[in-house]
Parts: sequence; C-alpha cells; structure tokens
Amino acid sequence: MVAECMGTSLKTLNTLGINAHCQQLIEITDTDQLGLALADLREKQQSFLVLGSGSNLVFSKDMLGTVLHIATKGIEVIEQDSEQVVLSIAAGEIWDELVSYCIKNNYFGLENLSGIPGTVGAAPVQNIGAYGVELEQFLISVQAIEVSTGKLLSFSHDDCEFAYRDSLFKRVGANRYVITDVRLKLFKDASSRRDLQYKGLADEFAKQDLVNPNASTVRRVIKEIRGAKLPDPAVLANAGSFFKNPVVSEQMYLQLLEQYPDIASFPQRDGQVKLAASWMIENAGWKGFRENDAGVFEKHALILVNHGCATGSNIISLAKQIQDSVSDRFAVSLEIEPTVI
Ligand SMILES: Cc1cc2nc3c(=O)[nH]c(=O)nc-3n(C[C@H](O)[C@H](O)[C@H](O)COP(=O)(O)OP(=O)(O)OC[C@H]3O[C@@H](n4cnc5c(N)ncnc54)[C@H](O)[C@@H]3O)c2cc1C
Repeated sequence: MVAECMGTSLKTLNTLGINAHCQQLIEITDTDQLGLALADLREKQQSFLVLGSGSNLVFSKDMLGTVLHIATKGIEVIEQDSEQVVLSIAAGEIWDELVSYCIKNNYFGLENLSGIPGTVGAAPVQNIGAYGVELEQFLISVQAIEVSTGKLLSFSHDDCEFAYRDSLFKRVGANRYVITDVRLKLFKDASSRRDLQYKGLADEFAKQDLVNPNASTVRRVIKEIRGAKLPDPAVLANAGSFFKNPVVSEQMYLQLLEQYPDIASFPQRDGQVKLAASWMIENAGWKGFRENDAGVFEKHALILVNHGCATGSNIISLAKQIQDSVSDRFAVSLEIEPTVI
C-alpha cells in the first residue's frame, strides 16, 4: 500500500517518536512486492530507507525519499531432527513474538533475547544481544535482496561478519541489501544452549529462589528485569541503549581503574575490557538531565528519551554533549548505537 501524500509523518513508526517526514511510505507485505518496489526506486534513482519497527534509529532530519516499511510475515520449519530445528522467518515478523512462539513450540535458545523490540529482519543488522546471548549464536543464514541488481542472495553466518552490536549490514551492507528472511537453528533440549550465568540474571534467579528455571520462567524473569529498568517506548519515547559500551585495552582500563576504583567493566576473552557506558555517563552527571524535551532517562543513563516534542537534532545535540563530556573526563569515545538518518 502506498501512502497518498508527500510528507508522510514517521512519528508513530519510530520508538523515539521523532516527527520526521518522508516523501513516500510503502508497506511491504511480500518479497515479490519488495523486489518490484526496489526495481522502481532503482529506475527512478530515488533514495530510500528500510524500516522495521523504528526502535534502533534516529531521524535527525526529514527523509527525502521513500520509506519501505517491512511487514512481511511467516515462520517456516526448514529442517529438523530429534535435537535441532531450523526455522526460516520473514523479516517483518516481530522479534519478541518469535521468541514467544519458539518457547511455546519447545524450540530453545532465544529466551535471553526476550523483550527486545523490533523486527526479525533488523535483528542481524546489529546482531541483537542481551543477558550474555547474541543472535549470531543461532543464526545459520540471512536471505537478502541486493539493491543494485535485484538478486536474492544468501549470506552464511560468516558472510555476515558479526561483531558486538554490529554486522556487515550495519556497515558496508547498509542500503546495499534488504533482508527478506532469517534462518535460525534452535534446540529441542532446553538445556543444550542455556546461558543463565549472566550477572544480573543469576542474581534475580537467586532472589526468586529459582534453581534451573525453564525457558518460560527465564523469559518471565528477563521481561521483569527489563520492565523495571528500561522505559516502555509507548510511555516514554526512546531507542533503547543510545551508546555502545566502549572496549578499551587492558592498559587503558588499569589507568582508569587507578583514578576510578569503582568503574563498571566486563573483561573480554581477547584481554581487552568493555566499560559500562552507563556508568561513565552517570558519573559525568547526565542521569536525569533534560534540555527542553530531549533528556537522559532518570533510571538508566544509557537511554536518551523524548519527553514529547524533541526533534532528531535535539536528541543528536544532547548525545554530542554527552560524548564530549565523557571524552573530557575519561578520555574514552562513546559511539552512538542506533542508525542516525
Ligand atoms: C526499549 C528498547 C530496548 C532495546 N533493547 C535492546 C537490547 O536489549 N539488545 C539489542 O541488541 N537491542 C535493543 N534495542 C534496539 C532494537 O530493539 C534492536 O536493534 C532491533 O533489532 C531493531 O529492530 P527494528 O525493526 O526496530 O529496526 P529499525 O530501527 O527499523 O532499523 C534499524 C536499522 O536496521 C535497518 N533495517 C531494518 N530492517 C531491515 C531489513 N529487513 N533489511 C536491511 N536492513 C534493515 C534499518 O534501515 C536501520 O538502519 C532496544 C530498543 C528499545 C527501544
């Protein structure tokens, strides 16, 4: 379906509630329609943006072009045996509904990724992760249309070049490929790929006297933890974590530790150290800060919020002030996590 008028508002299509506009909005409900829309845009040499649930982007300005809103549906079992199942999932499926579907069907692995907003097609773009688990641990392949040729390509796990909140599709692949389907391998034995050791999660299990909780319980507890610390975008507009946790050398970490003995950090397997961006932002005094309608969430300094009428440039200007202040204080650069349009 094509929205009739020029200047369609995208306010309800991004969780930061930015009232940016696009020239044309097309709702994509099947892959053939996506191929035709891309061919048309290619022929007219028009710019476009692929949009899922808009939970990981910031509209810093109006979109001079077309927004392709991916709303394709379908979950299919591709192969299975007594231990594993491979699912092919359409890009427009809602991620958290997929997690719920998998648990109901006894396909295990995705429990820790419960409650993450957004679509399945966007999940590989930043290799979504939470509570010690990342999407790439289950991903077999990604099907995508190459924009320049219209060809349907298959990317293996390795082709996707996954990293922390990153993949090929967020870097050189951005705007080059539109993901149509994602294939995940999940497990029929609930215990085969469990990760219940993540600090905040293990503490909550202990608090609730839960020993070896089943997948539904893991999902419930994770949703409770998330609900207590993250603002619901339907109540207070936000795009989740606004900055990536920076990874620094051990030497740099030890220098910071001398000056800030309680700095929050997570050692990495390669000897580097991941620092908690929220700790640094909070210590630089930004938690709860508000400038007009752009602000920092009062319960979690990593989350920038729109109290109502903030523009994308208000949010980006606040982000810049935070980056400068953290850099001055800790000599660490913070990288913005959502895609800035
Ligand atoms: C409250 C809150 C909590 C969050 N918690 C987490 C968390 O715990 N862990 C985490 O990793 N993330 C988290 N996020 C971020 C976000 O939910 C994820 O990044 C999610 O995968 C984004 O999905 P989306 O459909 O909203 O993508 P969008 O915001 O619509 O798009 C994000 C990017 O992906 C591109 N894209 C979207 N669909 C496709 C496609 N089909 N093909 C190619 N490119 C595409 C877009 O062009 C854009 O560049 C959170 C966000 C919010 C608001």
